[in-house]
Amino acid sequence: MPRKRFDFVKRLMHFASKCSEKRSEILSDRMQYVGVFVVSTASVLYLSQIYGLTSTLFASEATQRKKIVVLGTGWAAVNFLKNLKPELYDIEIVSPRNYFLMTPLLPSVTVGTLEARSLVEPIRKIYGKWHKTGVRFHEAQCVDVDIEKQQIKCRDISGITSSNPEFTLDYDFLVVGIGARNNTFNTPGVEQHCHFLKSINDVRQIRNSIVDCFETAAIEGQSEQDIKKLLHFVVVGGGPTGVEFAAELRDFVTEDLKKQYPGLSEHARITLVHSRDHILNNYDEQISEYTEKHFKTDYINCVTNSRVTEVNKNSLVIMNKKTKEKRVEKYGTCVWATGIAPSPLTKEIAKKIPGQTNRNGLITDEYLRVKNSNGTIYAIGDCSVVEQEKLVESVDEWFQKADKNADGTLTMEEFTDIMEEAKRKHPQVSSYFSTAWQKSLKKAFNEVDKDGNKRLNMHEFREVLKKVDSKLRSYPATAQVASQQGHYLGSHFTTLYSKDQNPDFKALGLEPFKYRHLGSFAYVGNDKAVLKVPVFGSLSGWWVMWLWRASYLNECVGWRTRFLVAFDWIKSKVSGRDTSRI
Ligand SMILES: Cc1cc2nc3c(=O)[nH]c(=O)nc-3n(C[C@H](O)[C@H](O)[C@H](O)COP(=O)(O)OP(=O)(O)OC[C@H]3O[C@@H](n4cnc5c(N)ncnc54)[C@H](O)[C@@H]3O)c2cc1C
Repeated sequence: MPRKRFDFVKRLMHFASKCSEKRSEILSDRMQYVGVFVVSTASVLYLSQIYGLTSTLFASEATQRKKIVVLGTGWAAVNFLKNLKPELYDIEIVSPRNYFLMTPLLPSVTVGTLEARSLVEPIRKIYGKWHKTGVRFHEAQCVDVDIEKQQIKCRDISGITSSNPEFTLDYDFLVVGIGARNNTFNTPGVEQHCHFLKSINDVRQIRNSIVDCFETAAIEGQSEQDIKKLLHFVVVGGGPTGVEFAAELRDFVTEDLKKQYPGLSEHARITLVHSRDHILNNYDEQISEYTEKHFKTDYINCVTNSRVTEVNKNSLVIMNKKTKEKRVEKYGTCVWATGIAPSPLTKEIAKKIPGQTNRNGLITDEYLRVKNSNGTIYAIGDCSVVEQEKLVESVDEWFQKADKNADGTLTMEEFTDIMEEAKRKHPQVSSYFSTAWQKSLKKAFNEVDKDGNKRLNMHEFREVLKKVDSKLRSYPATAQVASQQGHYLGSHFTTLYSKDQNPDFKALGLEPFKYRHLGSFAYVGNDKAVLKVPVFGSLSGWWVMWLWRASYLNECVGWRTRFLVAFDWIKSKVSGRDTSRI
């Protein structure tokens, strides 16, 4: 305890003992009790102030503030909390996971390049400094939302529960950041026989399964056929997660298992099955080609244009999408990384709100408010789909603004000016018109100017806006989008606090959410990575791997994880990965 506080408590105790000494001389019995009461109350209050317990004692203060209940401790929720001024609201966090998980580095944990604990940060540590403001965390799962009553029902689903594991919480605002679950596309056998790559538990199981396959193959008397089956690793999904896992596995086999299981590693095969023409199809062609070429020399077999249609205990069926030809492949370990689907709670909430018909998540407006929820529910991250404003919906407004001389038509000059303005507010404008801005504007103008009078009437202008709106895309389900949304909403609530209750955010001058794509990385193995950045285009090579590492170190939520991740990278390079199956 700091000296000043110690002195204060000492003085209180001294006063109390003086009171008792003088009891018979000065104070009556009654006065003695009053003295003791005053002293003990003062002591409790002072100590509780020091140790941040004031909020608990003054719960009534909290009840006067609007209450925000946050569901989740992932990228969206944590960035929301980090940007919210906690003293402005009464905040409760509910999540079955009491930590934040650095998901992009999970593939490295499947083979022991990084350790699981290096990627997690306890949520209580992240919001620890807010204790004084009364933020509370409940390690539980939200199982239902009563939209009318503005109340959620939660259940403790951990191993140890009390006799009353269910409880309810009221909210003024509910912030849903519950992520998504794996998408199996209803493929039979996936849930039972494949590993997913989404949680700490998943990566632990994959790591054990890989080593188990090698240990079983190494047991005396195994046939070559069995060894080949055991050491065949199938990865379903050629997006960044599947590609990074295949790359890490290849590194593990060639750098560590080769030495520890002599004579076995040459039987190891990795098959990457992808339903599109090229792996990493969301990056650009150059990156896909680079990765495919790199994988070929690294003995990773990319089976594109194909789908896994059935999974059994030791084999699976791969169908070529074009020829419909099917073939059976035996495998030792299969990892399923084909994308995401909404979680049961997201579907349940959507069912209760009219107009929530999107198959991918809760539809929100551009301020991230769940549509038709009276502004009480917000959704961020993988569980949400932001409905962006279509230009064509306000075609009259845009046309009037553009038609400066009010002659009912737009010249090329007027068209250019209005598109310049629209570009600042609507991302689809810059996506539609290429970087050769003037040239592509002219091309679009001439394409719709059917009568060739070098002017656009309302009908022709509407045609241009429809084409531009075709470039409107929902944001990708990435940590980058989730954290930017969380960040935005945290600041938004801070601003909202000082505004009136007007739900017309446009009228209040509040900025809508805008996603800024900073680039996409993928580790492709053998100390190489690929990167797609908006300004520089596609980059690849060993130095991109260093950039990839620096970028993820920067993304870690605290210095502890930053240090642990860096240390693990050095450790696995210097002394190899740990192959113990614990
Ligand atoms: C292996 C892997 C690699 C990835 N690599 C990248 C990458 O390189 N770059 C990138 O940008 N993105 C990457 N992603 C995607 C990224 O992780 C997600 O887009 C991001 O995690 C979404 O954040 P979120 O907050 O919406 O959900 P999550 O981070 O999944 O968090 C959801 C939270 O909600 C909690 N929750 C779930 N159900 C409930 C409930 N009923 N009640 C209360 N709480 C609940 C969970 O416990 C969790 O805390 C990767 C994902 C994976 C799995």
